[in-house]
Amino acid sequence: MAKPPPTGVAVPLEPLVTRVLAPNASAYTYTGTQTHIVGTDDLAVVDPGPDDPAHLDALRAAIAGRPVCAILITHHHRDHSPASRALARATGAPIVGPAPLVRGESSAGAQLDAAFDRDYAPDRVLADGETVSGAGWTLGAIATPGHTSQHLAYALAESGALFSGDHVMGWATSVISPPDGDMGEYLASLERLLGRDDRVYYPGHGEAVERPQRLVRGMLGHRKQREGQIVRLLTAAPHSVAALIERMYVGLDPRLAGAAARSVLAHLIDLERRGVVTQEEGAWRII
Ligand SMILES: [Zn+2]
Repeated sequence: MAKPPPTGVAVPLEPLVTRVLAPNASAYTYTGTQTHIVGTDDLAVVDPGPDDPAHLDALRAAIAGRPVCAILITHHHRDHSPASRALARATGAPIVGPAPLVRGESSAGAQLDAAFDRDYAPDRVLADGETVSGAGWTLGAIATPGHTSQHLAYALAESGALFSGDHVMGWATSVISPPDGDMGEYLASLERLLGRDDRVYYPGHGEAVERPQRLVRGMLGHRKQREGQIVRLLTAAPHSVAALIERMYVGLDPRLAGAAARSVLAHLIDLERRGVVTQEEGAWRII
């Protein structure tokens, strides 16, 4: 990355879309979470971001007193949805997005890890294909589970833009963290996007993706390659997740080791479901 873009500045991306970068850069959020504002007369805010006073001030300045029809959420991770409450109070707009976690409730909240915004409370839950609209814009929800079980992307019908959240990002592939994250669903959601003809993706993190089909095809290829690597290593000998990481990720940034372990586990669970591998006391092997 040459020079980090400024936070708190409203950057016009196209006539209907403005982006505001939140000041939460990190190893997991890249330059920070990007909030998108859609519309001209009345607005939708996509992923208001972390509950940070400076970011909320920047959003209020970008909104500039115009009515907000909806605060849309792609997924309720802590870097995407917490500002929804303060923004709803400030604008009177409803919080609209995916259902709060379902997968975790049956397993003692195990998947409600620290990444989740536990206070997320949508006023309206959107299902796949449902829309939200305002003056001159329509946003359609596209179920894209994988990064989280309830992840939604939003397609802007008038311009061919897709707000891809953390499903497809402009800087790295998604972290798939089981049990809420699911590799099989993630790959199916990538295939689903391949079947669409969106012109550009505006992700939660990283630059706009101008040739999205190419990137999505590359991401699918990357995961198939990782899966192939795992199968080859396990064919040679049983391995623990830690041993797999050591061989698969040479020169890995230590801050990302946890994410790599989650993604390898996600592959293993997917392979286990497909009857390719099994595990005993932490050692995974080919069946
Ligand atoms: Zn994120």
